[in-house]
Amino acid sequence: MKTARRFSPKEAEEIYLVPHWGAGFFRVGRDGELEVTPQGPQGPAASLQEIVEALRDEGRPLPLVLRFPQILEARVRDLNEAFLKAMAKYEYRGTYRGVYPVKVNQRRLVLETVARAGRPYHFGLEAGSKPELALILAQDLSPEALITTNGFKDDDFVRLALMGRKLGRNVVITLEKFAELARVVRLSKELGVKPLLGIRYKLKAKGAGQWEASGGENAKFGLTTPEIVRAVEILREEGLLDTLVMLHAHIGSQVTDIRKVKQAVREAAQTYVQLRKLGAPLQYLNLGGGLAVDYDGSKTNFYASANYTLSEYAENLVYVTKEVVEAQGEPHPILVTESGRAITAYHQVLVLEVIDVITPPGEKRPDPPPEEAHPLVKELWESLQSLSPKNFQEVYHDAFADKETLQTLYDLGLVSLRDRALAEELFYHIARRVQAIAQNLPYVPDELEDLEKLLADKLVCNFSLFQSLPDAWAIHQLFPIVPLSRLHEPPTRRATLVDISCDSDGKIDRFIDLHDVRQTLPVHALRPGEPYYLGVFLVGAYQDVLGSHHNLFGQVGEAHVVVSEEGFAIERYVPGESAEETIARMGFTSRELFQGLEKLVRQSRLSPSEKGAFLERYTRELQGYTYLED
Ligand SMILES: *Cc1c(COP(=O)(O)O)cnc(C)c1O
Repeated sequence: MKTARRFSPKEAEEIYLVPHWGAGFFRVGRDGELEVTPQGPQGPAASLQEIVEALRDEGRPLPLVLRFPQILEARVRDLNEAFLKAMAKYEYRGTYRGVYPVKVNQRRLVLETVARAGRPYHFGLEAGSKPELALILAQDLSPEALITTNGFKDDDFVRLALMGRKLGRNVVITLEKFAELARVVRLSKELGVKPLLGIRYKLKAKGAGQWEASGGENAKFGLTTPEIVRAVEILREEGLLDTLVMLHAHIGSQVTDIRKVKQAVREAAQTYVQLRKLGAPLQYLNLGGGLAVDYDGSKTNFYASANYTLSEYAENLVYVTKEVVEAQGEPHPILVTESGRAITAYHQVLVLEVIDVITPPGEKRPDPPPEEAHPLVKELWESLQSLSPKNFQEVYHDAFADKETLQTLYDLGLVSLRDRALAEELFYHIARRVQAIAQNLPYVPDELEDLEKLLADKLVCNFSLFQSLPDAWAIHQLFPIVPLSRLHEPPTRRATLVDISCDSDGKIDRFIDLHDVRQTLPVHALRPGEPYYLGVFLVGAYQDVLGSHHNLFGQVGEAHVVVSEEGFAIERYVPGESAEETIARMGFTSRELFQGLEKLVRQSRLSPSEKGAFLERYTRELQGYTYLED
């Protein structure tokens, strides 16, 4: 038997671009398994395949999510240290007081880990709604940490923020629209507490790509300049001007181009200066979110990438702010960012199992067609016989035309199903041969580019795109996807992925690339009886919380994993939702469902033991996982 050529870890890493997007947290090990190094490349490593196998041995079903709290800690530390280092480098006299916007991922482990890791840095949290503020107020933060509140506010939201103020927390109420000012003034008098106020400024500068609309003069949030001037006057009249401590400006999420970031900082810093000149005692310049994650590893301003590093981001914010305020003789502000995506994206891996492969026809060389076959089938056979590197384009054209004609004749009832099957077998075989020829050319003709996708396998993966990777569907976000094992074998197949939802949008057919977007993912041929797991990476930001229950597929189970010199430890497993839980979201109780079914069973002609077994099975189904389980 021919054994496959062994692949070095480096070769596999280059195919899946691991060093480009992995930020030092992931690599390919010597035994061809994908490894996680939560404390960075010098720290201890664990094989993701082994972690998944340990969870399976515990009886945990797939799909599941792996969370690495150590990666979250590292990201919080890296963000804070990047700002402290940049401030030291430029002799900046203010400091950094970042906050984590909880909307990016409010899961308990995430929130508590970020709060704990951020404590030494006085790192705070940001709320965009009442429930988020309620959640945040009860967290164990450093007394010096900021709590910022964005989003539209009603009386209760403002009251909650003012209560937090009364409890000694640094809750800043950001005015998102002009009308909120009167509300805050009234309620702070009513409760007898001075607020800490921020004003959100509508940046003229826009981000780039997906979230462009978050910035610009038409943005949903923020005050216009006439409104800001008016707000300062009102606060002065009310004797509350001393409460206006923060200017807030957010250009959007995933800002891929550092020039856009700089432009926004310049504009915001200028406004900070101007507001101080109007008499507002601002101390904080809050530059919002936008710190991008390099999902495809290309280090470009492509929408799934970022053309700057974390330290470049910090340095630019610090440097540009310093330059602007010093030119106007104003003191250095305390810098605030609300970076969410960049903190949480890396810590979470979605693990999928491939449960089936759908392969297009034509893999094997077809037999000659029978005497009675349709003339067009025979023509396809002749085309196949004549195919050579000299005429492959012409042969492909002819074959394609023959296939189309046959389809038309079939619709008119003039071609049998058997002939159509023979024709498709032949066409796909020709297409495969043509693709093999075209691959060896220095340049692939445009018309043949789609062949790769046409001929790719479809790997059926046991998951719902809508629950676990909503952004892949909603905004065509790209995520790195890598097989967890067999990375020392060359991946000989090309595939796209499909989920198990009954929705044709439940598929992934765009993959990361350094120069473009790949149409297929290199994978290995499945081996019977051997599980094949795919890891989807950088899914810790927004995916959990935006996921939906399409087809009633529920939240997936999650394992919290810590890696040390002794190996990995699964610290906790939180089960995913059961069928009855996802059904309950639609307003049905399992009790009612059971009663409905029981009535049917009682009226049926089943034997008593069948009736019992049936009801028992139904109950077990309600309590079971929503995904496929065999
Ligand atoms: C969503 C949001 C953020 C988080 O942005 P990221 O790009 O994820 O860092 C920060 N601030 C505000 C006001 C937001 O709405």
